[in-house]
Amino acid sequence: MEKTSEILTALQVLKEVFGYQSFRPGQEEAVNAALQGQDSLVVMATGNGKSLCYQLPALCFPGLTLVISPLISLMKDQVDQLLANGIAADYLNSSQTFEQQQQVQNKAIAGQLKLLYLSPEKVMTNSFFSFISLCRVSFIAIDEAHCISQWGHDFRPEYTQLGGLKASFPDAPIMALTATADSTTRQDILQNLRLNRPHLYVGSFDRPNIRYTLVEKFKPMEQLCNFVAAQKGKSGIVYCNSRNKAEKVSDALKKRGISAAFYHAGMEVSERERVQRDFQRDNIQVVVATIAFGMGINKSNVRFVAHFDLSRSIEAYYQETGRAGRDDLPAEAVLFYEPADYGWLHKILMEEPESAQRDVKLHKLEAIGEFAESQTCRRLVLLNYFGENRQKPCGNCDICLDPPKKYDGLMDAQKILSAIYRTGQRFGVQYVIGVLRGMNNQKIREHRHDTLSVYGIGKDKSKEYWQSVIRQLIHLGFIRQVMNDVGVMLHLTESARAVLRGEIKLELATPRLSAIATVSSPQR
Ligand code: ADP
Ligand code: ZN
Repeated sequence: MEKTSEILTALQVLKEVFGYQSFRPGQEEAVNAALQGQDSLVVMATGNGKSLCYQLPALCFPGLTLVISPLISLMKDQVDQLLANGIAADYLNSSQTFEQQQQVQNKAIAGQLKLLYLSPEKVMTNSFFSFISLCRVSFIAIDEAHCISQWGHDFRPEYTQLGGLKASFPDAPIMALTATADSTTRQDILQNLRLNRPHLYVGSFDRPNIRYTLVEKFKPMEQLCNFVAAQKGKSGIVYCNSRNKAEKVSDALKKRGISAAFYHAGMEVSERERVQRDFQRDNIQVVVATIAFGMGINKSNVRFVAHFDLSRSIEAYYQETGRAGRDDLPAEAVLFYEPADYGWLHKILMEEPESAQRDVKLHKLEAIGEFAESQTCRRLVLLNYFGENRQKPCGNCDICLDPPKKYDGLMDAQKILSAIYRTGQRFGVQYVIGVLRGMNNQKIREHRHDTLSVYGIGKDKSKEYWQSVIRQLIHLGFIRQVMNDVGVMLHLTESARAVLRGEIKLELATPRLSAIATVSSPQR
C-alpha cells in the first residue's frame, strides 16, 4: 500500500513540479529505490535525464539532499534551473567567498534548502562535518561517479574520499550516477563507494541519430578541412591529441574561412571560458580541442564531432562523440584514422612501467583500435563493448552504408568457437589461434590441447586472418573478453550456441590483411 502512495506522489511531483508527463526509462525505478532507502547506481547515457533521478526524491524526503558534483559551472546551472522551478537549492564550492559559504550553510542548517550541491573537495573535511552535523541529511547523490575509478578515463583524486560517506551517513541512501558504462568502472564505483546491495540501472547506450564514420587518413589536414567546409556553418568539435596540433588545425580551418578557435588546458582560464561561451552562443562554429574540452559542454546543436587523432580509449571516444546531436537530430561522428596513430599510442603506453593499470589502459586502447579496424557495424562494436549484447547492424555507420566484402563465415566461426570451448574458455586470442593452427609449442603440449579435434583445423589460414575473424566475432557479440590477473580470456556468449549448432546464417567480412598487419606493429 505504502508503495502505491509513493509512486503516486513521485508521479505527481514529476508532473506538478518538473512539468513532465511521464518518466523516461530507468527514472522511476531509480526514484523508487531512493525513496525506499536503497542505494543505487544509475548508468545512463548523457542527456537521458540523470538529474531527475535524484532531484525528484530530494523533494519527497523530509531533510536535505547532498549532491556531489565535480564541475563548478554545471553546479550553478543546475541550481539556477532548480530555483527557476521553485525548488530551494544552493551550492558550496571554492568559487565563493567565506561569507557566501557561511550564508549557504546557515540556510541549510535552518532547513531552508532541499538540495545542496557540493564539490568533492568540500566533503569529508572537519569543517564540513561540524557544519553538516547540524543538518538533517536524508539522501546523497554522487554525480559523475566514474571519477572515483582510477581505471576510468576521468579519475579525480578528490573523489576517492567519498568512500567514507556511507559510514558517515549510514541512514541516507546513496545514488551514484554516471554516463560511463564500462563494467570495470562500474565495479569500482560500487566498491569504492561501499554501496549496500544497490539497485542497478544500466540504460541503453545507443545514440541512433549519430552516424559513425571512419575516414582513412591520406592527407589528414586537407581531408579534415574539406570535411568541416562541407558542414556549411554547422556547429562542431574537432578533437586532437596535443595542444600544438589543436592550434595548428584551428589555424588551418581559419585560413579556409571557417570560424574556429582552439581550446586546451595550456590556456588561461578566462580565455577558455570565452571560447566555450562563444561556442555555446554560436559565435564560433568549430572548437578544435584537446580532451580538456569536456564535461562542461552543454550544447544541444553540435552537428559533428571529428577526431583528428585516435582517442586513448573507446569510452573516451564514446563520451566525446556523444557531445554531438543532443537534440536528437542527425549528427556525425567522424574518426580520421591511420594505423600508425594506434601504434603511436600503443608505444607510449608500453613505455610506462608494467602495472595492472597499464594493462587496463592497454585493453581499452585495443578496444578503440578494434573499433577503427572493425569490419562489422561500428555501433555494434561500441554497444557490445559496453555490454549491450546486440547483433543487428545499425544502418547508420560507414560499414553499414558501404559494406566491405562478405563471405559465409559460419564454418570459420564454428572452428573458433569450438576451439575456445574445448580449451575451457581459459585462454586468450593468441593461444586459441595457436591451437587452431596446430602450433607445436610447450604450453599447448602441457595442456594436451594437441590431442583435441580442433587442433590444426585452421592450419590453412594465417594468424592475422584468424585474428580478424575473432575480432569480428567479438564485435558481433558471440565472444566476450574477460579480464583476469593473467590476461584477457575469451568466453562464449549465450548467442554462440546457435552458431555452434549451425542454426543461423553468419556472414563475415573477408579480412583485409594489409590493414591488420600494420596495426599490430607499433614501430610504424
Ligand atoms: P543527463 O544528466 O543524463 O545528461 P539531464 O538530467 O541533464 O541529463 O536531462 C536531460 C534533459 O532531459 C533535460 O533537458 C531534462 O529537462 C530532460 N528530462 C529529464 N527527464 C525527463 C522526463 N521524464 N520527461 C521529459 N524530459 C525529461
Ligand atoms: Zn552500423
